[in-house]
Amino acid sequence: MNNAVFTVALTVALAGCGGGEQNPASTALEPVPTAPPAKAESVPQPVDLPNINPQPGPAAKAIQPIQHEPIMKPTKVAAARIVKTEAEWRDILTPEEYRIIRQKGTERAFTGKYDHHFKDGTYICKACGTELFLSETKYNSGCGWPAFFKSIDGTVEETPDTSLGMVRIEITCKKCNGHLGHIFDDGPNPTGQRYCVNSASMDFVPADKKPGTAK
Ligand SMILES: [Zn+2]
Repeated sequence: MNNAVFTVALTVALAGCGGGEQNPASTALEPVPTAPPAKAESVPQPVDLPNINPQPGPAAKAIQPIQHEPIMKPTKVAAARIVKTEAEWRDILTPEEYRIIRQKGTERAFTGKYDHHFKDGTYICKACGTELFLSETKYNSGCGWPAFFKSIDGTVEETPDTSLGMVRIEITCKKCNGHLGHIFDDGPNPTGQRYCVNSASMDFVPADKKPGTAK
């Protein structure tokens, strides 16, 4: 009995299922108006997705410039520096210039071409061209190297140097970090400082060849 009841129930259930499937299929032609609404429900979904996607796009674009511009501005200090590989420096400098500028060497006293050079103009960094010293700040110190009592503001960096068993202040080009020489406090007025610079670390631009500096 139990089996018979169960079989009947299954049969009814299967019949119900079959009937359920058949009904929509057979009546599909009649309730056509109801079918599109069912599809219409699924249609808006893909429509909504494209609408959602553009929203994060503009939002992200609006945030990016705000975050990146302030970050890039402080890097101008680093960007102002000239950084080259040692191989690149060797390509643009003579062996003597490389030894002095990149390896902190020193030219022999009284041998530099600017030791007794007193023309009007600007002394620039041999390695990167940055203007370092004006001729009106140059004086004859008698030490054997070009000497200045002042550098152009913001162009020369001073670093303690304890090499060779001495305590000195090394001076380098702020832009390319090239070695210039040393600074001592036995200079003339008004600064009392002596920028002792290797001729090989500099180049000279005469005043009459530099546009905008005619006096
Ligand atoms: Zn330089």
